[in-house]
Amino acid sequence: MIRLVDLHKSYAGTPVLRGVDLEVARGEVVCLIGASGSGKSTLLRCVNHLEAPDAGFVEIDGELIGYRPDGRRLRALPERRIRRQRADVGMVFQSFNLFPNLTALENIVEAPISVRGLSRAEAAERAGELLAQVGLAGREHSYPRQLSGGQQQRVAIARALAMRPKVMLFDEPTSALDPELVAEVLQTIQTLAGRGMTMLVVTHELAFARDIADRVAFVDEGRILELGPPEPVLTAPRHARTRAFLGRLA
Ligand code: ATP
Ligand code: MG
Repeated sequence: MIRLVDLHKSYAGTPVLRGVDLEVARGEVVCLIGASGSGKSTLLRCVNHLEAPDAGFVEIDGELIGYRPDGRRLRALPERRIRRQRADVGMVFQSFNLFPNLTALENIVEAPISVRGLSRAEAAERAGELLAQVGLAGREHSYPRQLSGGQQQRVAIARALAMRPKVMLFDEPTSALDPELVAEVLQTIQTLAGRGMTMLVVTHELAFARDIADRVAFVDEGRILELGPPEPVLTAPRHARTRAFLGRLA
């Protein structure tokens, strides 16, 4: 469903991604772990072309993202085509990025109306269902400031789902939350996984990764150094650098 092929990305001559290959099957959950600065966010941002890779490419559901083939080269797609591709990829960040002046419902219906062309009534009905799905039934008319961090993050998840994305990307979705609010957000993501959503999740929550991931990828200096089921990767990693990283967290 998601296919990354030999992705490279540098900033000002400093390589950040140095050849990332990864395939995420339909319905699969892959968690990315790794040290700060190892390139996890950059990798995720390449998936929906918020960053354009310098080399290599991304496919989602068989479709090349951000480019079209032109002979042996790739040419950039027009921005409006890229925006349309991006609409199929739900992304949830550490900071919830809700519009503060819009209610939960308004936050959720905005893109389905403007990008998908849903009527306000259809979008609102679906938003209500999604809010219920993330445990926030009846909070349609709350403003972000009236919600806890965990509730805001669940609205952000509902907002992403409202676009009916093919895949969901999460970048440390619980890092900005007070500890007592982490579980409710992880529970929401776990429910999504249970429903077969294809997901790439950057997380520092190793217990969560163990529970939710079909596979865990250890990102190290812009490469995937180790990839496999959570049990071996998290408990008996093959690489010394994975062991060192896990040791620092323990
Ligand atoms: P963290 O765990 O702290 O979130 P990360 O693994 O997500 O780290 P990235 O955010 O992908 O790491 O950053 C990888 C490297 O790329 C870092 O050295 C960072 O400073 C650099 N970097 C990221 N984005 C940019 C940018 N827009 N311009 C320049 N350098 C960048
Ligand atoms: Mg990051």
